[in-house]
Amino acid sequence: MYSETGSQWNVAELEDAAHRHLISPAEELAKLGTSGGRTLFTSADGIYITDSRGRRMIDGPAGMWCTQVGYNCKPIADAIAAQALRICYNSPWYSLNGPSAGLARRIAEFAPGDLNHVFFTTGGSSAVDSALRFMQFFNNVLGRPSKKTIICRIDGYHGSTHLTAACSGRAGNRPNFDLEMDNVTFISAPNRYRHPQGGDEAAFLEFLVAEFEERIESLGPQNIGAFLAEPVLASGGVIVPPKGYHRRFLEICRKHDILYISDEVVTGFGRCGEWFASEPAFDIVPDIITFAKGVTSGYVPLGGFVISDAVLGRISGENAKGSAYTNGYTYSGHPVSCAAALANIEVIEQGGLLAHVREVAPYFQEQLRKLGEIPLVGDVRGIGLLGCVECATDPHSQAATDFDKAVAARIDRLCYENGLIVRPIGSMCVLSPALIIKKEEIDTMISILRESIEKVQAEIRAEGRF
Ligand code: PMP
Repeated sequence: MYSETGSQWNVAELEDAAHRHLISPAEELAKLGTSGGRTLFTSADGIYITDSRGRRMIDGPAGMWCTQVGYNCKPIADAIAAQALRICYNSPWYSLNGPSAGLARRIAEFAPGDLNHVFFTTGGSSAVDSALRFMQFFNNVLGRPSKKTIICRIDGYHGSTHLTAACSGRAGNRPNFDLEMDNVTFISAPNRYRHPQGGDEAAFLEFLVAEFEERIESLGPQNIGAFLAEPVLASGGVIVPPKGYHRRFLEICRKHDILYISDEVVTGFGRCGEWFASEPAFDIVPDIITFAKGVTSGYVPLGGFVISDAVLGRISGENAKGSAYTNGYTYSGHPVSCAAALANIEVIEQGGLLAHVREVAPYFQEQLRKLGEIPLVGDVRGIGLLGCVECATDPHSQAATDFDKAVAARIDRLCYENGLIVRPIGSMCVLSPALIIKKEEIDTMISILRESIEKVQAEIRAEGRF
């Protein structure tokens, strides 16, 4: 018998079960087994999510940058149920299913340039991992086994497999893990707010380009296989690079035959008003684009990469030599996930959601930027329906302080009490609402955030700490 919690147990029993038996990502092991853990959500609709106490809130981060069409979308749920009953599984290692072939065709239709072949995985980490393993395979087949180093950025996030964790440059994710760094090197995040050494935007771009070129020079282009970059560093704090950054970096990659892998796990599927942000928002056609999250609006797990004919053609068809690309998963191209993705794409198309994002995103950005007038706010940034407000109690500090982080956590807690979930990332309050959000709902979201920031600002002033 299922209750409103979605299981046969009541809320108290489930919270107890979680404390006793569940390990969640980023679990604070020191607190394992104690009460007062994470919020238990029990239902959701549209842009709203309801917790086990019956409190209904705007889901500001859309889950984790993923519930594009919103919760409780019947066409996607129906597609999942229908496919589960039709044929719930087939082995992708030796057979095909309709939804994955159809979905590959749809993705090829709207991916930029000649990115026409899709490889499916189970989520974002496996998508990036597979793209990187493709790069290694590619260079081995081409007879240049030393061309394997991956250039990544500080503050980038690419996943939780061995390789993608090594390529993720967020300091907080690294302690006590063994990271295989042999073929991984980091360059600066394109974050002008925290790295002011470049001066204005144009000068900062030149600083970043010079650093990239110097790194290629010092390691030797014959040793570098890929540049791996999110168009906007999402988990690193919605860092939007200076204008022209991706184009310049792509040109340098092309010059040295380095694969440009654009990690669009967050920016793909409408977040910036297009299917992918690479084009036209950032004006590039990368060699490989990785995707996940928004491809199914988070209804079921799915990820993958789409690769250009130009790159694939160098080791396939008549140019093929060597072994088969034996990278893959039991659930690569899972029929239920792909059916959900096809329904999700239809909902995005029929609802005109890309055009809707292009219409409401400038309003969202404009309203968000007004929060920059609050003294506690050090920086406001974003693009499309991705936004971030960064708290800075010490305007002269080059890095967020522990107190900045505590302040942001206080703001997030207040927002929660007032009906808005905000994603806390260090000193930053991050918003990436579902694509269906309306202007009035944006107003509500921003006004809850403003009130919460102003209240915390008043409190820390009264405490003599700001
Ligand atoms: N790449 C990016 C840009 C991400 O933001 C994430 C997850 N937040 C990943 C990869 C990993 O995706 P997943 O958690 O689905 O494995």
